[in-house]
Amino acid sequence: MVILDRLPTKDRLVRFGLAIDNVCGLCASSSESRDHLFVECCFAKEVWDIVLTSCGVCYTLTNWEDLFNWLIANLKDKSLRIRILRLAWTGMLYSVWEERNHRLFRRSSRSVDALVNSIKLVVRVKLSRYGKPRIDDVNRQLCLNWGLF
Ligand SMILES: [Zn+2]
Repeated sequence: MVILDRLPTKDRLVRFGLAIDNVCGLCASSSESRDHLFVECCFAKEVWDIVLTSCGVCYTLTNWEDLFNWLIANLKDKSLRIRILRLAWTGMLYSVWEERNHRLFRRSSRSVDALVNSIKLVVRVKLSRYGKPRIDDVNRQLCLNWGLF
């Protein structure tokens, strides 16, 4: 849904004729679209920064298309870093959309750190299916960052 830009983001709802505001549900300072919610929003950028740093990845977010192309090009090997990044990406998409909906419909919000912790929990649970990761010098810091010990 996210990749196909089929989520009912406010920009799409306005295009369908709904008389609603088009303000981002996370930062309330820009118009809400998929590209904004998941990449350009200051809230999403903070989450991404922590996720990417925790993966030991240096990448500067620019826009949805560049990020998507970068992820597709770089999520191919089976290293622990890439497995984490792949899970974190889907966790990030789910968590940001969930957070947007909670703020919009439940009037409750979580901090960036709380959201990152929920993403890390999902990554840990999903990785636990594969047993303990091999600990070497590269993986040690990843395991520390993601609580995989
Ligand atoms: Zn925003």
